[in-house]
Amino acid sequence: MEAHKLICEAIDRFREKATAVSHSIHERPELKFEENFAAEQLSSAAADAGLQVEKGVAGLKTAFRAEFGREGPTVAVLAEYDALPNGHSCGHNLIAGVALCATIGLNAIAKQLPGKIVFLGTPAEEGGGGKILLLERGALKGVDAAMMAHPMDMEWSTMPALATKHLHFAFRGRASHAALAPWEGSSALAAVLEMFHAVDMARLHFRDGHRIHGIITNGGQAVNIIPELTECLFLARAKTSSHAQEMADRVIRCAKAAALATGTKAEWELVGGYKNMINNLSMARRYAAHCETLGVKTPEAPQDLPTGSTDMGDISHAMPAIHPVFAISNRGEGTCHEDAFVKDADSPRGYDAMVRVAKALAMTAYDLLAEPELMSTVKAEWDAREVS
Ligand SMILES: [Zn+2]
Repeated sequence: MEAHKLICEAIDRFREKATAVSHSIHERPELKFEENFAAEQLSSAAADAGLQVEKGVAGLKTAFRAEFGREGPTVAVLAEYDALPNGHSCGHNLIAGVALCATIGLNAIAKQLPGKIVFLGTPAEEGGGGKILLLERGALKGVDAAMMAHPMDMEWSTMPALATKHLHFAFRGRASHAALAPWEGSSALAAVLEMFHAVDMARLHFRDGHRIHGIITNGGQAVNIIPELTECLFLARAKTSSHAQEMADRVIRCAKAAALATGTKAEWELVGGYKNMINNLSMARRYAAHCETLGVKTPEAPQDLPTGSTDMGDISHAMPAIHPVFAISNRGEGTCHEDAFVKDADSPRGYDAMVRVAKALAMTAYDLLAEPELMSTVKAEWDAREVS
């Protein structure tokens, strides 16, 4: 199709620039909500291509938004660009590159687009839930379908991402001299250790494929003082939000039990949570068909595939959405959040994949605008979704 060809040619012409932008973001990793450099690079690249870019969207200073085309069906292409403490170990610089390339490709035929494209910069996927804030504050109003793509060590058109409940706990005990008068104190450290043990005992009862993991963020104040304050974080992950809530309730019971056993006080707070990903198969299959024409087989992920979680899950509960993953490393040689993946996210293989995936995504977006039957199938599938 002529439009597909024009989109792909524009992306090929933009390859060098997109690679430079993605590489520069990789070189300056920024944590959630601090992605000033990345947001500026992406906004400037889009502005250079003639787009009107709104910087700072919905009260998030590192979010940005541009739209083009005409009134009609609307598809959003989402960029992520935050890093982790060990750098771009989740390859979000490539997610940004994919979204930027796809946007540039679609903008090349802006006048012929039978609808609208929204290029949305979404901060803080890693624990900040930027997309949830953007969604709640109306940045995706009027959008009919949303898409992005994430690097991994595999090639799938869907990703069964888990729902999460992110909990913070604090234990308050009583400080005393650890040698002179330990009987005067009550140890908040004993409480937090007891809690981890209780959570481990509870593991047997969690459903298949669910995950619970925690870290101690404050283990005490001094070795010779009975700790009066300790803190920890837990992330409960399940296939649905309601099952994640079941796990969270159980973890809270573990905290209460630990406090009772140690004579301390437990406090807790829900600090965040993502919904599970509802993969729109009608969109995913069209994306996979375009991948195949570009020479890469992209099957649907098995339902029991171990995966992580993403705030794209929340988007997928608000509108039809896809979050395919693309391979930039080999299985067993490094995947998301591992140190080895940092290099993969800035490799020739990574940038080749970025360009290819951007083409498949952009052609899928175009099809959604140009084929009313496809859009109505996508919407009918979303309307029939199961939410739990
Ligand atoms: Zn990620």
